Amino acid sequence: MEVTHSQKRSQMEALSRRCRVVVMVYDCLIYLYDVGVGFFYPRLYLNPFISFCKVVLTNSLNKVVTYSPAYTLVPTYECFNRCAYCNFRADPGESPWLSLSAAAAELRRLQSQGICEILILSGEVHPQSPRRQAWFQLIYDLCELALSLGFLPHTNVGPLSWAEMRSLKKVNVSMGLMLEQLTPQLLVHKHAPSKLPAARLQQLAMAGELGIPFTTGLLLGIGETEHDWWETLEAIAQLHQSWGHIQEVILQPYSSGTQEAWAAVSFELNQLPQVIATARQILPTAIAIQIPPNLVLEPSLLLACLEAGARDLGGIGPKDEVNPDYPHLHYQKLVEILEPAGWQLEPRLPVYPHYDNWLPEKLQIAVEQWRTQFQHQLIFQI
Ligand code: SF4
Repeated sequence: MEVTHSQKRSQMEALSRRCRVVVMVYDCLIYLYDVGVGFFYPRLYLNPFISFCKVVLTNSLNKVVTYSPAYTLVPTYECFNRCAYCNFRADPGESPWLSLSAAAAELRRLQSQGICEILILSGEVHPQSPRRQAWFQLIYDLCELALSLGFLPHTNVGPLSWAEMRSLKKVNVSMGLMLEQLTPQLLVHKHAPSKLPAARLQQLAMAGELGIPFTTGLLLGIGETEHDWWETLEAIAQLHQSWGHIQEVILQPYSSGTQEAWAAVSFELNQLPQVIATARQILPTAIAIQIPPNLVLEPSLLLACLEAGARDLGGIGPKDEVNPDYPHLHYQKLVEILEPAGWQLEPRLPVYPHYDNWLPEKLQIAVEQWRTQFQHQLIFQI
């Protein structure tokens, strides 16, 4: 979106004011250090210390909302399920698979653009299909490729076997699978065998056993009852009590699209803040509630969702592959909505800090580099 000259000027003035405050604090600490009072904290630690203070301060004001600068790679749109609300799938054999060379070219183009997360999002090849192994290998190779080019992969490709999950843990900083709804009665899933709630619950438990930081969520408005929402959230909370691995829960309103078979009325968005508020009571506080801002539509509703307890906007990138009719809001547009209401929009990694030490060493090093980069960004933005 076009930013006017006066908007730019007021942003620069706000930034300048914030920078002056940081410089003053920094100067005070240097002074204390020089007169000997600061011998407890060598200069080397001053920058991280200031950044830490800023994070503590803004979090204590509870006005921080995060997003993940992300880009989605789709190995294939083909899927053996037929969810009635799907705006993504193609019939098996009807969607060419992404080649590694095409993916490499795409990823190289994204380097140095501030994108951190590569979301690997795929339609599913049936577990019994002779093509399953090739499909899985492509997903694994795409993750490795993304890592080798400096990105952090997060894979969400439907239910996987134990061996597949264990293998992908080596090349993913986190993974995801929407639980959607716990009730098995939904007509929209009549032709979607992998949407069996029991299989998906099992997948979430597997992720816990394997120590994989995990994202899950609910799809709201696909024929379930209100009671189903609370039951689904309770189930997620219980899984988290056992394994402590759920880092965020997405509350995704069903939003009708132009490519789906169902074409039902979208979820009644005015209900979303209340759903968030109740979810906040059910879920452990360590789990962030995520809402997709492009599906919320109204700025006032987005702010109401934050007031109700949502604290994350998920991956923001050029295209929402699952809801292609609802383009992501540009970063600047989000800031214009959030800042006047006192909210600070901050980038985050696809893995939350308290899970860093769950990761294989190679991934920990990659994550650490991104954390340092984001930390410097935060210091500059104060
Ligand atoms: S929603 Fe996912 S599982 Fe269902 S048909 Fe679409 S791609 Fe397949």
